[in-house]
Amino acid sequence: MASAPSTPGDAPVRVRFCPSPTGNPHVGLVRTALFNWAFARHHRGTLVFRIEDTDAARDSEESYRQLLDSLRWLGLDWDEGPEVGGPHAPYRQSQRTAIYADVARRLKETGHAYDCYCTAEELETRRDAARAAGRPSGYDGHCRALTPEQVAGYQAEGRPAIVRFRMPDRPVTFTDLVRGELTFAPENVPDYGIVRANGAPLYTLVNPVDDALMEITHVLRGEDLLSSTPRQIALYQALIELGVAKGVPRFGHLPYVMGEGNKKLSKRDPGASLNLYRERGFLPEGLLNYLSLLGWSYAADQDVFSTAELVSRFEVADVNANPARFDLKKAEAINADHIRRLEPKAFAEACLPWLRAPYAPWPAESFDEAAWQAVAPYAQTRLTVLSDITANVDFLFLGRPVRDEASWAKAMKDGAADLLRTAAGKLATADWASAEALKEAVLAAGEVHGLKLGKAQAPVRVAVTGRTVGLPLFESLQILGRDRSLSRIDAALAVLTG
Ligand code: GLU
Ligand code: ZN
Repeated sequence: MASAPSTPGDAPVRVRFCPSPTGNPHVGLVRTALFNWAFARHHRGTLVFRIEDTDAARDSEESYRQLLDSLRWLGLDWDEGPEVGGPHAPYRQSQRTAIYADVARRLKETGHAYDCYCTAEELETRRDAARAAGRPSGYDGHCRALTPEQVAGYQAEGRPAIVRFRMPDRPVTFTDLVRGELTFAPENVPDYGIVRANGAPLYTLVNPVDDALMEITHVLRGEDLLSSTPRQIALYQALIELGVAKGVPRFGHLPYVMGEGNKKLSKRDPGASLNLYRERGFLPEGLLNYLSLLGWSYAADQDVFSTAELVSRFEVADVNANPARFDLKKAEAINADHIRRLEPKAFAEACLPWLRAPYAPWPAESFDEAAWQAVAPYAQTRLTVLSDITANVDFLFLGRPVRDEASWAKAMKDGAADLLRTAAGKLATADWASAEALKEAVLAAGEVHGLKLGKAQAPVRVAVTGRTVGLPLFESLQILGRDRSLSRIDAALAVLTG
């Protein structure tokens, strides 16, 4: 059962996922999306998906499309946003510029914001001086109270002005849903820019303005954004005065994800790219299961659970403030469990992309649906990621098995030819309707040469499948068929006795 919403009063939960469309979707981004989604679903709330594309230089349509595609693939659906619409449309910030211009103007009119004419050099000189004197080095409020003459002077010089938000001169305190009560002293949160000199609104303005207009109740986002929270809370208070916001949302900052060498997982890390997991054949459920453990846990003694189970238990209050470690081996182990949990039919279906071009090394017409259906159950228990399937079943669809040198070196030693010759004879007269009979045949061939089953079957396996490891051998032989199996043993004999 879902527990009671942890919102003030009875306000229904409204959370948002608001990425900037830059680069490829990465693990950190998906973790944020997942936690917001799970929180919304747990509380039967609303997930708003908003695109923060106000940085024309870095944003791209390609990245935007990938984001949507990735969320769809993962099954993280949204209630308002691109493609689904909603009462607060549009959900792309690049289409909302008039709203931001209007709010910025009203913030200035009410004294919450002001034009700042300082040049970059002036700011730098004063920052250096403040540092040298041991004073706080953030913006010093220089333009907070310019006289009309000073403004006229700057304008006559043709100086551009940015718009700066005026921080209240008192500490900002809030209770982080993950970290508890936090207080920021005013000297650490100086007045900050909200509109560029060219009139373009900044993240610092558009993000809280949209959260306010979209009536977001909980902001769950990465710890890297913690320092922007006191600024946003102060801005919210001004927005409440203007009638733009109804209240201040609650904030919860999700822990950092650490990668190799205990360094923060960066989106440029190759292991951080979502596409990589998708191409390797992680199941969406397996990946979501794993990503949910980056800062949260389902139960002390259970790491593998379904997405429905995740939703039923997810609570932001249970998120751990300590950095989470990204552990690829654990992700793979969890994914393997999810592969085993699939219905056999769903498993066979899920593998299909890896049994076709461009993953499969055989031509499309060599793929044999019946053989695949027959072999799939043996493969299901063996895969870590779905892309492993290709090497496990290529012996069925390639005209000739792959030649794996290490396998040949290991299995095709002295005596292998004799064994193969005997095995071929016994297999030729065996009952191919029974895998057990094929095993008896190889066992008997081994006895002739003083070899136990394990040693006797290795050359047979390499001759037929190309590798020393793979699916259960006798079932594999059956599915490949008598004639093809025997002719591969002959071909291997020809190579050995060449
Ligand atoms: N667009 C911001 C980002 O990608 C959103 C941050 C937030 O959640 O407030 O980092
Ligand atoms: Zn200034």
